[in-house]
Order: sequence, then structure tokens, then C-alpha cells
Amino acid sequence: MVVMDSVSFISLGGVGDVTKNMSAYIFGNEILLVDCGIGFVDGSMPGVDLTIPNITYLKQAAANGKKIVGMILSHGHEDHIGALPFILPMLSQFPIFGSALTAALANDKLAEFGEKNRVQTVVFNDTIKLGSFSVSFARMTHSIIDAANLLIRTPIGNFYHGSDFKFDFTPVDGKPSEIRKIAKWGEEGILCTMSDCLGAEKRGHSESEIKITESFDDEFKRSRGKIFITTYSSNISRMNQAIEVARKYNRKICFMGRSFLKARDIGRKLKYMDLPVKMEIRPQEIKRFPPSNVLILVAGSQAQIESGLVRISEDQDRDIRITRGDTVIFSADPIPGNEVNINSLIDTISKKEARVVYSDIADDFHVSGHGSQNDLKLLLSLTNPRFLLPIGGTYRQMVAYRDLARDMGYMDEEVIFADQAKEIIFTQNGFRVGKSAPSPNVYVDQISGETIEKYIILDRQKIAKEGVIIIVTEIDSQNGRLLSSPEVILRGITLVDHKKFTQDLAGVLGKAFSRRAEKVTNWQFFRKTVQQKAEKILFDIGHAPLVIPVILEV
Ligand SMILES: [Zn+2]
Repeated sequence: MVVMDSVSFISLGGVGDVTKNMSAYIFGNEILLVDCGIGFVDGSMPGVDLTIPNITYLKQAAANGKKIVGMILSHGHEDHIGALPFILPMLSQFPIFGSALTAALANDKLAEFGEKNRVQTVVFNDTIKLGSFSVSFARMTHSIIDAANLLIRTPIGNFYHGSDFKFDFTPVDGKPSEIRKIAKWGEEGILCTMSDCLGAEKRGHSESEIKITESFDDEFKRSRGKIFITTYSSNISRMNQAIEVARKYNRKICFMGRSFLKARDIGRKLKYMDLPVKMEIRPQEIKRFPPSNVLILVAGSQAQIESGLVRISEDQDRDIRITRGDTVIFSADPIPGNEVNINSLIDTISKKEARVVYSDIADDFHVSGHGSQNDLKLLLSLTNPRFLLPIGGTYRQMVAYRDLARDMGYMDEEVIFADQAKEIIFTQNGFRVGKSAPSPNVYVDQISGETIEKYIILDRQKIAKEGVIIIVTEIDSQNGRLLSSPEVILRGITLVDHKKFTQDLAGVLGKAFSRRAEKVTNWQFFRKTVQQKAEKILFDIGHAPLVIPVILEV
């Protein structure tokens, strides 16, 4: 039976977890999706670049006759659009919408995977109907242009989807948050506000991005060499700030790195970047200008392998070198997990006697894009909902959010903790907690881009920590006996007594295989036995590497 008196909300990522944002609103047989982001990983997951939302719930729902009526992208950050190429092929067709820059970035990403213009552009005054849902957009300031919060009207009540935002009253692009629109929505009545809570532990207001322009100005004033600035490639307004200051100090601008060139092209096409053609130079032309007349906007703020900045720092670029007296500004905080690589990049650059400016020594070059306590309180006052549901933060930030809601008169039971994949069922009278959908992490392999299972990650962790032992064992195919002492190959591990290990293993295996005086058919048995016996001996001498048995039938 289809239930028509409730709307369910399920987070498939992005609650209790900062990244891989994806939410589903369900009414009757209709599903509305918001965002489709990737998660970032740290060094504990070797060989893995990213994680993506777990869509088991959506697949099950489709099997039960539910239909996705559409997807809205709130803004163009990777943790909100990055999983599109991985997730879309697994789902049926449905329309996708985003604001101008969001749609441009998402379409650019999908184009690499052969899909053209799947994401449709909306303007902030649009209201779109998707099945029984209707979605309106409010412009919000964040650390990317064209970020949106959403009002989702449903037959049982209105939801405010407040993904990433802060209230920046002096935004670089001159387009502030649409506060009056949000206040009007609040008057219309909101059942639940889903709110970004990443900054819930920080007091006061988050700072305006405009502050960075002054910091750039200070650096440009003192620098006599070339200046390099790196940031997130989606941060077009940060590039605009650099361009503005470069113009003042008469520096030509050179873009380096594929993602930065793309950002420039998108920025120009949407008229979000004001870069006169005569101000721009190509890498080959840099030599023709005095160092004090050059600004290089370069990709690589996260020290990504093969990024422009990494290549330049290793003297691999044909045209550009970092030399004594140059300044390199990291105008982006490290994404958790990238710190080690970034630190080593900073070291490499420092060795060239360049001045490196990064967040540990100067917090003048990055401000948070997420609202602090006062921003969050302002949104709460404007939307004035019956219930609150913190999203986009870790568990402790959800708790901090509940504390600030309590200060504003909300009862603890009015603040909903929707742990990942737990169904929250809203009715006109309140809410209840439903079932949880399966939600183990889904990993994407660094090389192949394929999604991989948890056990592969465990294998990789084992290899990284303990190394690998390959055991080549010859078995007589006629009677299943051990033919000779196994050959033991070590990688990433040393054994104090390699010979003794081989002898012990030969002894144990000889015994284990002596009882099978028959033709060999079950290779699985031999592989398992070799693995288990070897692991036992290794464990006794204090090792736990990954054991790979290779059985040769002779
Ligand atoms: Zn964001």
C-alpha cells in the first residue's frame, strides 16, 4: 500500500559525515533527490581516491515501484556533485537541475564520461514541479558562486534544505543571500529545516570572503618576484579576487593546470570572470616579463599528483620555475587526508627559497564557507521551523547544533539526528524514525575508477602495514601430495629466519596433504590450507602479512 500521509527523508551520505552529500525525500511512490557528492578519504584507505553515497536504498525502492522524479544540485562543490558520473549510470533517467555555475560544473564533469548537458540550468526565481514536489531556490553565499538553499513544498508540509551556506554580507560577486525570500518562506510555514551544521562549534559569524582581497593586496605590495596562487578550482570568485589585485599591481596573469583552465573558460562563458584578454599570458610568454609583473594561478592546492603546482615544484614544467624571491600562496585549507602531501609540497617549494604562505602560518588566505553559530541561528530565526535536522557535519557538530537550538528555545526532541540511511518519516503532526537502509561505504579505486568492496580496502591496509608473502606450492596432480619445499617470496616484509619459516611450512603442508591419496580436484582446498597454515606460523612469530597462495599442479 502506498502511504500518502507522510514524507520520508533519508540521507544517503552527508549526515554524521561531512562529505558525499546525497539526500532523498519520498512521498508516495515519488522520490526527489538532492545532491550527489563524493566523500574524501584519508591514508587509512590505500589506493582509494574517494567514496560515493550508497544507493542500495534507491535500487530497492525502484524494485518496489518507486520512481525518482528528479534531482536538484545545491551547489558545485565536489562533495555535492562529484559522484554524478558513478551514480547516474546505476539509476533510471530523471531530470536534474542546478543554478548556472552548478549546472556548468556538473555538465563539464559528466561530459568527460560522455554525457552531454544532462543538468538543466535554473534561475533563482524558478519554482519547478517534480511530481508532487515543488522546489524553489534561494541564493546563498558560500565559498562558491551560485550556491542555493531550497524550499521543498510537499502535500504534507514544507522542508527547507539548507545545504552549505554562510551569511556573507559583502560577497565578492556582489550577490548576497536572499534573506527576504527565506523569511517569506518562514512565514509560509516550514515543517523541518535541514541545516548545514559544520560550523556549529564556532562562535560568532563566519568572515566574509572579501577579507581575502586585502590579504592578497598585502602580499602583492611586498613581493618583487613572481606570485603563484592556488585554490580549489571551483572557487572562481577567489580567482576574481586575485585578478582584481593583479590588475592594481600591473601583473599579467597566467593560468596553469587543466582544472584551472576549465574554471577560467566556464567563468568567462557565464560572465562570472572579468579577465581582459590583454591581461592574460601563456606559460611560454612568462620569460618575457619581469617577475614582478607576473601572477600565476595554478591548480594543486591539495598537492594532487600531476597538478600544475606539483609539476612546477619538481621542475617538470617546460616554461615555469619557482625561484628565490617568488611567493606561493595556498588560498585553500587542506581537505582532511591530504595534509601529508601538502606539507611535503610546501617543503619542496620552501627549499627553492620562495616565500610560501599557507594556513598554518597565515589564516588570512582562507575563510570558512560554512556558517558559524550566529549564521546558523539567523537561518533558524528566518525559517522558524517546527523541527530541525542538522546535515553536512560530524556527530559532534550535530550535538553542538542541538545545543544552539536549545538556546533558541527548541526542545531536544525537536532536533532530529538522522544518522546515515535512517528513514525519518514526517507527518502533518510530527515525525517518527523508520527503518535504516543498508549503508556500508562504497569506495572508488584510484586507478580504475571502479567501485570496490570493503574487503579490498582491508587487504590494502594489511599490505600497507605488514607486506605480502607469496607462497608458490607444487602439488602432484595425481595424488595431491606436496612435491617440494614451497617457494616463499617476500614483498614489504622481512623474516628473521626465512629458511626456518620455509622448512616449518613444508613440514606442516607435507603432513596436511599426505592424507589425500587421490586425484586433485579441489584447488580451493589447497589454497585455503596453504594460506591458513602459513598465517598460523607467521602469527606465532609476530607477523600478519597478506598471504597469497599460488598452487602449481605438476
Ligand atoms: Zn560546499
